[in-house]
Amino acid sequence: MGEVNITFPNNKLIMLEDVISEDGNLVENLLDDSMEDSKDVHKTRPKKCTRCKSSKILGVEIMGAYDGILFWECDICENTILRFKEELTEKYLQLAKGLWTNPSDWGYIPPSEFN
Ligand SMILES: [Zn+2]
Repeated sequence: MGEVNITFPNNKLIMLEDVISEDGNLVENLLDDSMEDSKDVHKTRPKKCTRCKSSKILGVEIMGAYDGILFWECDICENTILRFKEELTEKYLQLAKGLWTNPSDWGYIPPSEFN
């Protein structure tokens, strides 16, 4: 994704609809079921991807879901790594549903303002 590379690609801000379908259990859609430890929680940025062992781990913010990084994503294989427990992540994801149609109404922050 081009805009991520303008600054050091530590984090990215995305819309819920960019990552998952809005149907059913959202966090289940994110996680890789083939990974035994896909539901492990990493409160701080993982040093390596649990799947491909890459060190390029992005913090992912979802508009309207959580004010800050909601989960981690490998920049190489796009593996999702949870920052919060599955149930909590699901609640935050559900918060974002319906909000993404009008992002300008609730203060969109461009990725360039991340620090
Ligand atoms: Zn990976």
